[in-house]
Amino acid sequence: MARKVLVVGEVREGGLRNVSFEAIAAGKLIAEGGEVVAVLIGDSVKELGNAMIHYGADRVVVVENDQLKNYTTDGYSQALLAVIHAENPEGIVLGHTALGKDLSPKIAAKLQSGLVSDCVDVEVAGGNIVFTRPIYSGKAFEKKIITDGLIFATIRPNNITPLEKDESRAGTISTLDVEIKDLRSVIKEVVRKASEGVDLTEAKVVVAGGRGVKSAEGFNILRELADVLGGAVGASRGACDAEYCDYSLQIGQTGKVVTPDLYIACGISGAIQHLAGMSNSKVIVAINKDPEANIFNVADYGIVGDLFEVVPLLTEEFKKI
Ligand code: FAD
Repeated sequence: MARKVLVVGEVREGGLRNVSFEAIAAGKLIAEGGEVVAVLIGDSVKELGNAMIHYGADRVVVVENDQLKNYTTDGYSQALLAVIHAENPEGIVLGHTALGKDLSPKIAAKLQSGLVSDCVDVEVAGGNIVFTRPIYSGKAFEKKIITDGLIFATIRPNNITPLEKDESRAGTISTLDVEIKDLRSVIKEVVRKASEGVDLTEAKVVVAGGRGVKSAEGFNILRELADVLGGAVGASRGACDAEYCDYSLQIGQTGKVVTPDLYIACGISGAIQHLAGMSNSKVIVAINKDPEANIFNVADYGIVGDLFEVVPLLTEEFKKI
């Protein structure tokens, strides 16, 4: 059954986040041959429309307004609801990012719709669109189908492969004028605390440190390894609580959820709350002095040793490749 599906692109610092393209791939599956309409919301985002088309969107609807420069729930929900009312889609997909996690439940409530959140896979099986999502802090997966009404989902970054970029693809980009009013909050300025080279939630490689790293300076060797691998640095809550690094790096139940291709855990014991944020990583390498550490139970490769010896050796070896 062909459907019209809206896919919300996510803009950060003037560029599209990769999850936008992953959402298009999910939208294509849900559309089953129907139309995928990308939605871009911001103050100056129209020029990004072509990238959404190159990654598979059939059409782009842009809502531009000075008041949408920075994300607010009120502003973005007014913009997205206006597009939804104009387009009347049968499906909606967003990234399961900080923005998507905030915006999608509000939209679902306004539309009185269900929402399947944090999906790691979407497939067509037995005539249904089947969503797979982790439950019990990543210990199990459940499959969901929507039998009635809007097919509304958020997808976890780094799990669904975007379509091949094709710059010869063409599509229309149109603007929808939306009056944004009664904002209860206004973001005046965004101050980023950590200097994020690679976005932690979208990184293909994450090098994470725990209390075993012992100091803020100790994280330098992790940064060097992450740089060589083109990855991002993350941390356990133990390391954040000890003020070795900023809480924006925390991975886990109360931090960020990551699913990189490679996760290198350094001096992290593997508490269940930490595993909730990383256990679905594709390959997990654990470096820990304690051979009984729980992190080895989820690791594909375990190195029992002192991270201050092992990490610099890994960095040197990777530099040779
Ligand atoms: P530790 O448990 O102290 O482990 C340090 C490890 O380093 C040890 O295994 C040790 O053997 C190893 N080590 C020490 N020195 C070296 C060395 N030189 N070389 C190699 N290894 C070494 N935690 C999170 O991470 N994320 C969350 O989101 C989170 N949410 C929580 C929510 C709640 C409600 C609660 C109660 C807790 C939460 N926690 C969370 C905390 C969690 O329970 C653990 O306390 C925390 O993950 C421990 O951090 P750690 O592994 O860095 O420290």
